[in-house]
Amino acid sequence: MSFSLYVHIPYCESKCPYCDFNSYAARGWPEADYTQALIVELRARAAQMPWAGNPIRTVFFGGGTPSLFKAASLGRVLDEAGRLFGLQSGAEITAEANPGTVDADKLRGMRAAGINRISFGAQSFNPSTLRFLGRIHTAEQTVVAVEQARAAGFARLNLDLIFAVPGQSLDDVANDIAAAAALGPEHISAYNLTFEEGTAFGAALKAGRMRALPEEQQALMYAMVRRELPHRGYAMYEISNYARPGGEARHNLTYWRGESYLGIGAGAHSYAADGPRGRRWWNERLPAAYIGKALHSGIAEAGSETPDAATSASEFTFLNLRLTEGLDLRRFADRFGVTFQEHFGPPLDRLLEGGLLLREGDRIRLSDRGLELADSVFAEFL
Ligand code: SF4
Repeated sequence: MSFSLYVHIPYCESKCPYCDFNSYAARGWPEADYTQALIVELRARAAQMPWAGNPIRTVFFGGGTPSLFKAASLGRVLDEAGRLFGLQSGAEITAEANPGTVDADKLRGMRAAGINRISFGAQSFNPSTLRFLGRIHTAEQTVVAVEQARAAGFARLNLDLIFAVPGQSLDDVANDIAAAAALGPEHISAYNLTFEEGTAFGAALKAGRMRALPEEQQALMYAMVRRELPHRGYAMYEISNYARPGGEARHNLTYWRGESYLGIGAGAHSYAADGPRGRRWWNERLPAAYIGKALHSGIAEAGSETPDAATSASEFTFLNLRLTEGLDLRRFADRFGVTFQEHFGPPLDRLLEGGLLLREGDRIRLSDRGLELADSVFAEFL
């Protein structure tokens, strides 16, 4: 069975105040050692099940800011992955890029290294929203970066947007959507801002120095995003993700469908979907600890768990219900050895009767109302 490979690059030029990813502001970074650690870790994993002998179908360089690394460093990791596992023909190979850290040369180098999709963290096209979010780039830099990526030969692009930012109006969100769509990417992700524990925004909210937008306003914004992007040719296929036909992020579909992925790099998580329970593990979070451990023994695992079958079934359910294609009841039964109705009968009946879930043949999916109340629907399957 093919699998997806995630490669984490944990460095950023500065830390955005809303970001809870495993990323660190740095002026310099040990690129050679970190790249070598990734390669050593790949080699160690290539000898292990369930990866040994299986080809890679998607690769995603995420972060952090992978575009801070030289294209040649990303290319070395990709070449090694291809040599060890083989890349399926037409494999989707994405790198995240901050529009403030690329230029025409860098993008040409990334394309030449084998990367075929760029995901730009645009976030907004409004200068005050960008400033509020602590972004290091301007809207103009995003426009130029998209043009440079097209000129470098990237046929598949994503732009990330964030909405429900304090101070933002519905018109501001509509303008961001229009500006992103006008650049013609194949894919647009639109995330509702959240205030996570451990972030500067999370602390400001807790201390009363910042207020989130009222929930009704956030819901109006989400409803507008869900209406406006499809008007512009981007069909919603996941709660926060929209694509032109064929432009869906294949790598992320691996996560939402509950399939196996290998994560390498600092703090990267992996999941092996073997059997009803599956197994997951995660690496050392701090880059220095990761580099030390990976270079020493090839494996930089900091922890692992084998969830019980009930937890696995719940997770499989929420992940698949994020997709507009919904959950395939036959896949559920194959994976867990029990039908969905047998496992989740009472909540399923309640949600179908309440109109929050729809059943279509062998699939169930969220209705429009279910999408608005997705968190409460997911809670029913805990
Ligand atoms: S650039 Fe991305 S990963 Fe880095 S701090 Fe900002 S949001 Fe987080």
